[in-house]
Amino acid sequence: MRVLLVEDERALAETVREGLAGEGHSVRVAHDGPSGLAAALGAEHDVIVLDIMLPGLSGYRVLQALRARQVWTPVLMLTAKDGEYDEADAFDLGADDYLTKPFSFVVLTARLRALLRRVAAPRPVVLTIGDLRLDPAEHRVERAGQQIVLTPREFGVLEFLMRNAGRVVTKHEILRAAWDPHYEGDVNVVEVYVGYLRRKIDAQFGRDSIDTVRGVGYRMPVLPDAYADPVGGGAG
Ligand code: CA
Repeated sequence: MRVLLVEDERALAETVREGLAGEGHSVRVAHDGPSGLAAALGAEHDVIVLDIMLPGLSGYRVLQALRARQVWTPVLMLTAKDGEYDEADAFDLGADDYLTKPFSFVVLTARLRALLRRVAAPRPVVLTIGDLRLDPAEHRVERAGQQIVLTPREFGVLEFLMRNAGRVVTKHEILRAAWDPHYEGDVNVVEVYVGYLRRKIDAQFGRDSIDTVRGVGYRMPVLPDAYADPVGGGAG
């Protein structure tokens, strides 16, 4: 695979570069934020390993700039336990995984392989429930043709609910699907995000599309795509 490594600690960068190259991967290294961003924009990579504390431009800013330019290369962020940032921030900004320093090379390569397996899945189709549309590839949500801006986490929760439309899903299932595998917080955070979603995709459109199934979880209905069949009057 083609790896871009953005890491200012040169000894660490060199260790990781040597290790990955030794496994047959092609590795490009940048030692600061601006050159990392330029490298990421300038060439295709299969994965980007991005440190957070970088000179010039933090890893967060690099990630934001990439996603803002519709660059969806998977990003594994390197976080420091004592840092002022945490992994929740990394995920909210669109990182695909993170690793806390210090880490072993074996763990890094295992994570990179898992990440590539996940993103190698076929390009997902657009999900629809009535006039609600979610495009996983474009990270875009619309209701009645109007775009709705969601955070990556809200998007993940909605995507899981829509993929399981017609079925009751538990908070634990949502948590496993939309939070990272290492999350150890309270499952009730799911309620908070369903609340955010209701405000954004339902309340302002006068809808109520996420049922609460008391004591169990949530369910979205199965409805035909409001725009798929012009004979059905969906164009109005
Ligand atoms: Ca650093």
